[in-house]
Amino acid sequence: MKVDELSSLLEFDRRHVWHPYASATEPPPVNCAVKAAGSVITLADGTELIDGLSSWWCVAHGHNHPRLTAAIQEQLQEFCQIMFAGFTHAPAVELSRRLLAVVPEGMSRVFYADSGSIAVEVAVKMALQYQFSTGHGSRTRMLTVRGGYHGDTVGTMALSDPDGMHGCFAHVLPRHIFAPIPPVAFGAEWDDAALAPVAELLERHGEEVAGVILEPVLQGAGGMRFYHPAYLRGLRELCDRHGVLLVLDEVATGFGRTGKFFAAEYAGISPDIMCVGKALTGGTVTLAATLCNERVATGISKGAPGRLMHGPTFMANPLACAAGCASLALFEEYDWSEKVRGIEGQLRRELAPAASLPGATDVRVLGAVGVIELEQSLSPGALMPFLLREGVWLRPIGRYLYTMPPFVISASELSRITGVMVRIAAGEGL
Ligand code: PMP
Repeated sequence: MKVDELSSLLEFDRRHVWHPYASATEPPPVNCAVKAAGSVITLADGTELIDGLSSWWCVAHGHNHPRLTAAIQEQLQEFCQIMFAGFTHAPAVELSRRLLAVVPEGMSRVFYADSGSIAVEVAVKMALQYQFSTGHGSRTRMLTVRGGYHGDTVGTMALSDPDGMHGCFAHVLPRHIFAPIPPVAFGAEWDDAALAPVAELLERHGEEVAGVILEPVLQGAGGMRFYHPAYLRGLRELCDRHGVLLVLDEVATGFGRTGKFFAAEYAGISPDIMCVGKALTGGTVTLAATLCNERVATGISKGAPGRLMHGPTFMANPLACAAGCASLALFEEYDWSEKVRGIEGQLRRELAPAASLPGATDVRVLGAVGVIELEQSLSPGALMPFLLREGVWLRPIGRYLYTMPPFVISASELSRITGVMVRIAAGEGL
C-alpha cells in the first residue's frame, strides 16, 4: 500500500470507524493489517508481528490455514448464505455431526449462532424456556461466579463480573446471583469447603434459579484464572439436587486451548447446555453454537410455545459451517494435544523468570495459555510502540499480561513472545 493511501485510510478510520472498547473522540492507535499467515500478521508498512493472542483466541491452527481457506472457497462456488428457516445444507449437518462426536457425552442438539455472546444469550433463553415450559416459572434468574466474562450484549454483561469492564452498566442490568470466584486454584489441593458459598446460595435461592453458568476451569477475560475442576464436579451435583441446569461457556476454553479438547473434560462432567465459538471455525469466519442435551430439548418442546424462540439471520452460515468442518477435520489430523503440551512446557520454562520480578504477583500456565499477573494495570496503547519494535502482538487485559498463541507457533516464535512478556513485566516498554 502506498504511503498516502495508508495515511488516508488511517485518517478515515480514526474519524469514522469504531474499534473495540474505544473512544470515538480519542481513538487509540490502530495498525493496518494487509496479510496474515501462520503465526504472523503483516502490516501495511511491512512490519511483521507474531500473533501472541491467536487474534482473540480463535485462530487455533494459525492464520489463513490453506485447508480452511480451501473449504471456504469450495463452499463459495455453491452458495454463501441461505436462511436457515425452511432450509438446511450439508455443511451445517456435517458440522453438527462432527461437533456432537467431540463434545461431552449427552449433548444431542446444536443451535447455531453468529458470535459467542449470542451463543450465551441462546443458552440463557434455553435455560429460562426449559424452566417455564416444565412448570417452573419462578426460576427466572441465573447464578454465576464472580470473575467471569460471557460477552458484551446486555444479557451477557449481566452475567459477567459486576466489578469488571461493564461495571458502568450495573444499574440497568437484570440482577443475577453471584457466588465468589471459585477459590481453589488449578493444581492446588482440593477442599470441599470451597463449594460451601455456592451451595448456600443455591439453598437460599434455589427456587428462583433457572441455571448456573460459568466458564469451565479457565476464567478468561475476567481475570485469566485457572480453578480446580473438582469445583465443577461439585457444582454438577448441586445443580442436580436443586433442579437447576448447568451451562458451560466453552467459547474461550473449547477446541484444545486448556490442554483438553473441552475444559469440562478435566472434571469428567457433562453440562446440560454448552456454548462454543471462537476457534469453532479455526478463527476464519464468525460462528458459534449452543448445544444441549435431550432433557433440555424435550423440556422446551413440552410447554407453550413449544419452540425455541430464537433465529438469527446468519444462523448456520454455510461458509462458516464449511470452515468449521475443515477445522474439526484438521484437529483429527495433527496431534494438537502434543502441540499444546509443548507450548505449555515452553511457557512454564520461559515465563518462570517473571515470578521473581517485583511488579509481578503471579505467573501461571495451563495448556496454551500463559499469564503474568502484575501489580499495576497496563495500557495496551502505551505498550504498542514497544510491541511494534519487537515484532510481537500482545494486548494485556488490565493487570493480566497473557499469551494464547496459535497451536502452530514455532518454538522460536514463542520464545520471542515470552521474552517480550518478561521484559514488559520487568517494566520495559511502558
Ligand atoms: N464467552 C467467553 C468465555 C468469551 O471469552 C467471549 C469472548 N471473549 C464470549 C463469550 C463472547 O464471544 P464473542 O466476542 O464472540 O461475542
